[in-house]
Amino acid sequence: MRVIVVGAGMVGLSSAWFLQEEGVDVTVVDRAGVAAGASWGNAGWLSPSLTVPLPEPSVLRYGLKSLADHRSPLYVPFRVNTRLWRFLLGFATYCTARRWHRGMTAYRPLNEQALAAFDALEAGGVDARSTTASIFASFASERDAEGILDELRLVASTGQEVEMELLTGDQARARQPLLSEKIVVAVDVRSQRFINPGAYVNALADAVRARGGEIRDGVTVTGVRRDGAGVLVETEADAGGPLRADAVILATGAWLPKLAAPHGVRMLVQAGRGYSFSVETEVPPQTPLYFPGARVACTPLDGRLRVAGMMEFRGPDDPLDRRRLEVIEAATRPLLRGVDWSTRRDEWVGPRPVTPDGLPLIGATATQGVYVAGGHGMWGITLGPLTGRLLAQQVAAGRIARELAPFDPLR
Ligand SMILES: Cc1cc2nc3c(=O)[nH]c(=O)nc-3n(C[C@H](O)[C@H](O)[C@H](O)COP(=O)(O)OP(=O)(O)OC[C@H]3O[C@@H](n4cnc5c(N)ncnc54)[C@H](O)[C@@H]3O)c2cc1C
Repeated sequence: MRVIVVGAGMVGLSSAWFLQEEGVDVTVVDRAGVAAGASWGNAGWLSPSLTVPLPEPSVLRYGLKSLADHRSPLYVPFRVNTRLWRFLLGFATYCTARRWHRGMTAYRPLNEQALAAFDALEAGGVDARSTTASIFASFASERDAEGILDELRLVASTGQEVEMELLTGDQARARQPLLSEKIVVAVDVRSQRFINPGAYVNALADAVRARGGEIRDGVTVTGVRRDGAGVLVETEADAGGPLRADAVILATGAWLPKLAAPHGVRMLVQAGRGYSFSVETEVPPQTPLYFPGARVACTPLDGRLRVAGMMEFRGPDDPLDRRRLEVIEAATRPLLRGVDWSTRRDEWVGPRPVTPDGLPLIGATATQGVYVAGGHGMWGITLGPLTGRLLAQQVAAGRIARELAPFDPLR
């Protein structure tokens, strides 16, 4: 069997690798290159305890409040186009406790298997490692910590195991010297992991190539259609003509709707753009730090600290807006100490693929042989390998995992 995967991000390359496990011959095509989308400059957390549906009641309250504040970590353009309106209204309808709980119940079986899929990659020859660590969710007031404590309790109420410890500011600083005196309380969320996402996804690409897979950069796919017993993947003229295969997986992240909509996928995927940069610290950072109030995630990367945040609802290809980097830095500065902010570099913007219901799209479309894998929003790194594993079984062997039912792309 021969399968073409469109999109060389974490989700597409994981799909390709697990397809190879099933004996499938794969070609991955990307208009830009490996990890050219959201899969490069993200925070790199593999954090099943925090992997929850994005739409929930407090996000709606918070979102409405922050619309009027230009320093807010949420940005919605002043002129909202029809498509964005549809997305925002759809998203708002999912911001209820009942729908969040339903979404969380769907996430639970994925969260429980997510890290094992990384183990399979690492045991199977991918030359990169995930590091087990705590994530320290840290707060400038005790009241602010209530939100995450409630959320973690709700996650645990679905039956998912959550290991956490509540710490005073001093206890947290003893373990995490980078936390400033402003932090008065922290939640140590245990047994999570982190990776250097760009390096990891590139190692995954190398492993796919080493097993005989082909990865082609500079191939922009313009459409996909059924052709006889297989599928035809149409590309822009300079890519050397259309490609043929038995099946295709569309894993184009925030760009998914363009290729998937003609195949019955009605769910919108909106770019929720995030920004990141890295800085030097006095003591090497050891574990991820999370500042939910500022919506900022920090991760140790090659001896530096990556600082990531912001949710900007704009087009996935819009240019980087430097003002957002300033907002992130201004919000984070008081919460950390021992950081040399003058060493800022690796400035980056990338589009989270966000769906209105906060659930990814994984599975078959209305066109035989055309599958989608995307829309993971905040959690495509954590869930990318498992998505690839489950979808590969479906594409190659027709085994449809029960836990994928809520993520039906045709819902
Ligand atoms: C600031 C930030 C922090 C984040 N932190 C985390 C985190 O800590 N943990 C976590 O789990 N997730 C995190 N995420 C989310 C995560 O980055 C995404 O969910 C994930 O990278 C999506 O992967 P993907 O493979 O679906 O899409 P992408 O990585 O965006 O890949 C899509 C690819 O498709 C290609 N493409 C698009 N259209 C076409 C076309 N027509 N033809 C050919 N190729 C095409 C693009 O070039 C791109 O390479 C974060 C995101 C951001 C922005």
